[in-house]
Amino acid sequence: MSDDSGSFLCTKNILFCAATRRNRSAELKPLRLYNSDGREMQPFTPLKEGMVGLYCCGPTVYNYAHIGNLRAYTHWDILRRTLERFGYAVNHVMNITDVGHLTDDGDEGEDKMIKGARERGMTVWEIAQFFTDAFFRDISRLNIKEPTVSCKATEHIADMIGLVERLEKNGFSYLSGGNLYFDSTKLADYGRLALLDRQELQHGARVEVDENKKHPLDFVLWFTRSKFQNQAMTWDSPWGRGYPGWHLECSAMSSKYLGEHFDIHTGGVDHIPVHHTNEIAQSEGAFGHKWVNYWVHNEFLIMKSGKMSKSKGGFLTLQSLVDDGYDPLDYRYFLLGGHYRSQLIFSVESLDAARSARKSLMGRLTAFRRDVGDTPIPQSSDLGDSVRARLDAFNEALGEDLNTPRALAEVWGLVKDDALPPAERLAALLDMDGVLGLKLDEAGQEDAAGSVDEELADLLRRRDEARNAKDWAAADEIRDELASLGWKVVDTPDGPRLEKA
Ligand code: AMP
Ligand code: ZN
Repeated sequence: MSDDSGSFLCTKNILFCAATRRNRSAELKPLRLYNSDGREMQPFTPLKEGMVGLYCCGPTVYNYAHIGNLRAYTHWDILRRTLERFGYAVNHVMNITDVGHLTDDGDEGEDKMIKGARERGMTVWEIAQFFTDAFFRDISRLNIKEPTVSCKATEHIADMIGLVERLEKNGFSYLSGGNLYFDSTKLADYGRLALLDRQELQHGARVEVDENKKHPLDFVLWFTRSKFQNQAMTWDSPWGRGYPGWHLECSAMSSKYLGEHFDIHTGGVDHIPVHHTNEIAQSEGAFGHKWVNYWVHNEFLIMKSGKMSKSKGGFLTLQSLVDDGYDPLDYRYFLLGGHYRSQLIFSVESLDAARSARKSLMGRLTAFRRDVGDTPIPQSSDLGDSVRARLDAFNEALGEDLNTPRALAEVWGLVKDDALPPAERLAALLDMDGVLGLKLDEAGQEDAAGSVDEELADLLRRRDEARNAKDWAAADEIRDELASLGWKVVDTPDGPRLEKA
């Protein structure tokens, strides 16, 4: 059983209840996060004790999510699971951008939803539902927890209109050329997240020129003039029939479900200069006070050939990796090998390495289970000092701005340390996987025999290759690895054979 309910994590013969974790959290060092708003590491302090309001910018559903988008959601899942590990109840809200928006981040470009619908011969509503379903299938395959609330932009138009009315009342908007604009000059610290320097920005330097704007940093709150004759998604509003500006939905929906001041907002770094800058401007302009305490931004997954782009096409999907024989969780392992604030280069070689590493961990876990047999697995509070120290180091890595590469190194340190009792290693590994979400046990139990056989055969083959190449050190290392899994290599005239140690 998974711990998706947030209430308990129960595996074959281990039970850590949430209350135990909450007690243990008293021993944990405070969680620290890098806050893009201020550009520094900060201790995390929630607005309400024990609770976190978390908002993640969701997918635009006019195409499949590419594996770069899925990097973002995987790291936010790690953020959520880490917060839960540190004892917080997380209210996780994510929007679904199903309103047609423009292919450019500014106010120009082609409507993405219409483009997607045209290319696939569907209506815009059908295209949005089709790719929303595909997105949830992808995140489920990556073992990403579903948000507590997933909200569609098209179902919250009234909330967006309400927010714009507040902006209008507070003097932050103006009508021009049929559209309603946000007046960026009215907000004293407009652009603080992106460290924008208003003086340096020349008219037209950042976005294409829109003659209706008073200032190039102004942005549309409500469109009534669409340049698309076939605009399918429009609604009545006090400013005429039309549709909302892109940034509006996140301000309106996050405050609806999390309140007008909440803890954490996430997104990719690409959103800092425009989308998130404008979300802050609208929200703080409407509410009259600070809106979000911590901004957490992930860096991009890039291909050797450069950036992947949903609107420009030519990207990899999770399904394309599955079609090439990978388990989606191999990709999750690959992602955890990089820190979320560093760019990560995708390559087949790295994905292969992630696959064999994950398979190897599954093999270890199965070997621990075999050694432990029916003996009860210790509770986390009963672990010896050495394993406890590993777990503490693992928690510390996650608590220090979600350092998953360091956390993975602790996992390997634990499983490879043969001086530690297998029962304790098993208990700690299962506990660690509660955050990593690699389903090491589930997969291990489902095809334990298969994966172990494969891993053993692979190790035996590699040892043979090392011996043929007279690389005795490598051959000995592999022999030791086999021994740690409980197998002895016996060299016979017919070739090497494995015997139970
Ligand atoms: P979209 O569906 O295009 O709005 O993107 C969903 C999320 O993925 C946003 O937070 C983007 O910032 C993020 N994102 C887009 N491309 C990448 C990439 N190549 N690597 C990591 N995150 C990305
Ligand atoms: Zn957003």
